[in-house]
Parts: sequence; C-alpha cells; structure tokens
Amino acid sequence: MRKRIAIGGIWHETNGFAAGLTDLADFHAYQYAEGAALLERYHGTGTELGGMIGAAGQCGFELLPTLFAAAVPSATIARPALDTLCDGILARFDAFGAVDGMLLVLHGAAAAEGIDDADAHVLERIREVLPPPLPIAATFDFHANLSEAMVAGADLLVGYDTFPHVDMAERGAEAARHLARMLESTGRPARALAKVPLLSVPQKQATDREPAMSVMSALHDIETRPEIWCGSVALGFPYADAPHLGASVLVYADDTRSARAASRSLAEEIWSRREAFDIALVPPDEAVSEAMRHPRWPVVLVDPADNVGGGSAGDGTVILEALVRHGAKDAIVVIADPEAVAVAVAAGEGGAFDAPVGARVDDRHGSPVPVRGTVTRLGDGRYVHKGTYMTGYETSMGRCAVVDAAGIRVLLTSRRTMPFDAEQVRCMGLEPAEQRIIVVKSASAWRAAFESVARHVIFVDTPGVCASNLEHFEYRRRPVPAYPLERTGPDAEHSWLRDVP
Ligand SMILES: [Zn+2]
Repeated sequence: MRKRIAIGGIWHETNGFAAGLTDLADFHAYQYAEGAALLERYHGTGTELGGMIGAAGQCGFELLPTLFAAAVPSATIARPALDTLCDGILARFDAFGAVDGMLLVLHGAAAAEGIDDADAHVLERIREVLPPPLPIAATFDFHANLSEAMVAGADLLVGYDTFPHVDMAERGAEAARHLARMLESTGRPARALAKVPLLSVPQKQATDREPAMSVMSALHDIETRPEIWCGSVALGFPYADAPHLGASVLVYADDTRSARAASRSLAEEIWSRREAFDIALVPPDEAVSEAMRHPRWPVVLVDPADNVGGGSAGDGTVILEALVRHGAKDAIVVIADPEAVAVAVAAGEGGAFDAPVGARVDDRHGSPVPVRGTVTRLGDGRYVHKGTYMTGYETSMGRCAVVDAAGIRVLLTSRRTMPFDAEQVRCMGLEPAEQRIIVVKSASAWRAAFESVARHVIFVDTPGVCASNLEHFEYRRRPVPAYPLERTGPDAEHSWLRDVP
C-alpha cells in the first residue's frame, strides 16, 4: 500500500529591517501553486519540491498536494497573509481522507506581524490536522535561525548544505527518504539542537569557501556514521531582531547521546572559526576606480547591503552613482524601479531616456540618480533558469527596459529579482562576459550566475537593510553576547545545546 503523504510549504526569509509588509500578492508574484498544479509545476525542477516529487515513487508515496507559496525575501509577513496561507494548506486536508504524513518546505527565518518564528507557527497550525504521531519531515534554508519551537514542531528537519543554494532538490529527496524511514517503524530519531552565538553575514557564509567549507566537511564526516540519520548546519540570517537569531546545528541520530555529541562538536567547530567570519569591504569610490583600472574583466562589484535575496528593495543607487561620476564604460547595473520602466516604455526602443532612477522604496540605499541615455531594449523580463539554481524554473522580472547611459547599461525591472542566473541579463540582450563591470544586488547568490566569467570581485561598503556591518542595526531582542557585536568569548565549557520540548 502506498503511503498517503501531503506535500506543500511556505517559504520566506524575512528581513525585519526592511520597509513595509510582505503581502499575499508578493507570494503570488514569486511562487504560488495549489493542488495538482503544484506537482506539475515543480516536477523535475531543482527545488525542494522537485526533489520530494522525484523521490516519491521510490519511497512508495502517493503525494497529496496542498499549496506552496514563496515570496522573494522581503519585509515582515502581514499576519492576514500568513493566516490565509496556513488556512489554505489546512483546507486541502478536508478532501484527503486518511493521511500518513507530510513533506513540507520551510525557510526557517520567516517572521510575521506579532509572530517571531513563523516557521514554528506553520508547523503548529499543520499539527491541527496532522497530530502526532503522524510524521512531518521538512526542509529549511541554510539561512534559517532555528528555534527550539521549530525543531519541536516537526519530526525531522533537513537543511540545505550549500550556499549559494544548489542542493535544494537533493535535500527535498533526503527529507522524503527520512519520512519513509520513519513510516517503516513507529520510532523517531533522537534530536539535538545547538545554537552558536555567532551572527555572520551572507558573503562570509559560502560553503565552498572557508570558513564554512571546513564546517560543512566536518558535518559530512559526522553524517557517514551509521547511528546518525542526518545533520544540518544553518549559519543564520542576521537581518531580524529575535531571540533565536544566530548559527544552529541540528543532528538526528538513533540515540540522544550521539545526537548531542555530534551537535556539540560541530557547534564548537563553528565557534573556533568565528574570526574568519569577519568581513572586509571597499568604499564605493575606491571600488569603482579599482574596477575601471583592472586589466582583466568582467569585474563584479558586489552590493551586499542591497541584497534582494536578503529582503532589500534592489533599487540601491550608491554604486550606480559612483559609476556615473567616474565615467565607467561597459557596466551593467540592475535596478528595480517600475516608475523608471514606465518612462522607458513611454519613450520606446531607440527613444531618449532622461529620468531619476532608483532609491524610491526607502532612504537607506542612496538617492535617485539622474540617468540620461537611450532605451536600447524593452522586454517582458521572463527567463528560464539555465544555471545551477532552480534549474528549469521560470522567473519573471515584470516589464523591463535597458537604458544605455554612455556605456553604463541600466537594466530596469518592474519586480525585484535575485541575481541567481545569468539569463536575468541575457534575456534583455546583455552578455555578462562582454562587460567590464557587473554590479550585483546580492551577497552570494550572484556567484551561481556570474562567478564563472568574473575575473575579479570587489565587495563594496554600501549602506542598506542588508549592510554587512551589523553595528548599523538597532537590535533589542537578539541574543547577547553574540559575536562579532560582542567579541568576548563565552564560557569554554558551554556546549550551547538547547532543550527541545
Ligand atoms: Zn538562504
């Protein structure tokens, strides 16, 4: 008999410092699928759902699709939006009859109005229709700020092992296999959660670079032990103000002692490398002149503070302004600015463009920059991912325009879009390898798109809601002490192990 397994999820990385609220429309604009459409849309894609769907046959699952909703990382989720999505998942159960378990896609850094830990809340809501001992296995993002409540809410959680994230499908399949294993017996693995008092920023979290590379290889060693079901490290997302901020280690094992020992040793491994998570940044003017002088190109100028994937508006102008002032040539900058797109559309292809661009959403990412040039291309901003991130998935940037301003090509988009795939600019006729300078609104996501052509990379010290210098933020509820805001070491005997209810 095939097991009847519900599938769905709610995925959002919430930037608690970003302006406004994330509403239902933001989920519909990015990823939203219900019922049979969920299976159709994600089958064969490099996503968690794609991996779960792919593994279902082998696991003996009949999948019962609920709904999946994801919004591009952004501000706090409006409470009614979260309620609607949870209700939507629960409502599907009415028609299912008997259900044996659930596969769920979560993020681990979601927050809604009045709810610090929205992922734990979603799990709590699902337990209304799927009470224990019916098993729930869920995936989470490498940027999760795991809490005791979230860990307690599911029987097993599997986190991405990569950043930039390229293993979502594998982790989805892994979650499905663990769910099948739990269904074969009534037993559940023992679990241990360790929290490390370290706040790190995305550009230092890449898993194929130090310091994270060594941490991940220690994790993979631990996962080869027969008594270990699986382990995850989440380095966390520092752009929120909550008590469960920080790095986490979560291990599932046959027995509590093994889970705790493994969690503790990985937590100590992360802590011992804390100074390697410190960051070095170049001021914008220096960065632009260095890029213009550099003998080999393209040079990637990374604007980490306006990291779309971290919840910022994607309309920061600090680097664009410096490029214009220095007279840079053959540079691409992507700016989310629907008003500027409208100006370009009115001018038409070949028409003259003369309007302020960017910095409209808030006053934390520079000022609007006057741009004068020619509209060289208009488009619908749709592209299919051909790289390693969400391969095969179609993203839409909304109506787009390219304005060429004396060799600076400003790609204006209607929607803020994470730079995970080179098709983002190719679909508008811009070939990355032919540029001298590529500006990316991202901390690390850009690597999946542009690293293979980049000859030099400069991290720029820009202001914004994802600023790399955490001293810029007014935290009230974060854990204290936390490195690097407090540089004092904790008690060496402390294991940071948490009690999961
Ligand atoms: Zn992430």
